[in-house]
Amino acid sequence: LIQLFIPLNALGFVYREIRQSLVNVERLFGLLEEHPAIEDAPYAQALHLTQGEIAFHDVHFSYNPDRTILKGVSFTIPAGHKVAVVGASGAGKSTLARLLFRFFDVSSGHISIDGQDIRQVTQDSLRNLIGVVPQDTVLFNDSIYNNLAYGRPSASQEEVEHAARQANLHDFIISLPEGYKTKVGERGLKLSGGEKQRVAIARVLLKNPPLLILDEATSALDSISEHIILDALNEVSRQRTTLVIAHRLSTVSDADTILVMEQGEIIESGSHNALLALNGYYAKLWQQQQHTTKT
Ligand code: ADP
Ligand code: MG
Repeated sequence: LIQLFIPLNALGFVYREIRQSLVNVERLFGLLEEHPAIEDAPYAQALHLTQGEIAFHDVHFSYNPDRTILKGVSFTIPAGHKVAVVGASGAGKSTLARLLFRFFDVSSGHISIDGQDIRQVTQDSLRNLIGVVPQDTVLFNDSIYNNLAYGRPSASQEEVEHAARQANLHDFIISLPEGYKTKVGERGLKLSGGEKQRVAIARVLLKNPPLLILDEATSALDSISEHIILDALNEVSRQRTTLVIAHRLSTVSDADTILVMEQGEIIESGSHNALLALNGYYAKLWQQQQHTTKT
């Protein structure tokens, strides 16, 4: 029995390690290190996706007890819709994304996907259904190829290259001396912010998830690359429930609904035209951004 037990156990260990490393890249976007790990509920079931509706119900949240970050946020993203969140830096936009990916649990209220509280489902099943383009992408010390294929380790070489083309990265990669084999990351070639963002976008294109979070996904790109990438991202977000966080309002004016956040609260919401007609905070922001080209 003991002889049988040891190799099986070792296999289980290796398997767990692999699974954990797959989740780790996305974990970095949650800054989890400083916080207690989120645990699956004792009887957690896999999330059962039916339509793909996301809902925040009176969500309050604070990272530290001394400061409340979200103060009762409620909104629904109907299946297949795109909801954008805009607002000043520090308003709590990325926090919404981190809570939806369950890097942290809400302090009160709840978040549901197709009616299931995300605290009651397994984290693996939740995260497998969501693709994230985070604000800051972390690369492994590995080849650019493996960094891309992380999006879907079973992808073929054709699929990886196709995603790289869609993310406007292929020509750059083949211009490198070692092409797709070029080592990147801290111990390899350092990529610019825009190039890293395109790696994250290619990963999401490969993962092809039913739910999508884009957190200022094109903020590090120049205007020309941004247009190309926005086309690719619009293609992925079509028919998919999408939460898109944006700095430049022009990139989300086509969203079904735009939520305007200020200091942890939604202060306005509606379509681009409805918000302009409201002539409030959004309208002012829009006016301001018409005069500044790229920030
Ligand atoms: P936004 O994306 O709108 O710029 P964030 O959601 O990232 O804003 O942050 C909202 C607030 O929460 C900010 O004041 C930020 O400093 C704070 N914050 C973000 N992450 C953490 C963290 N891991 N620990 C403590 N405070 C944080
Ligand atoms: Mg942010």
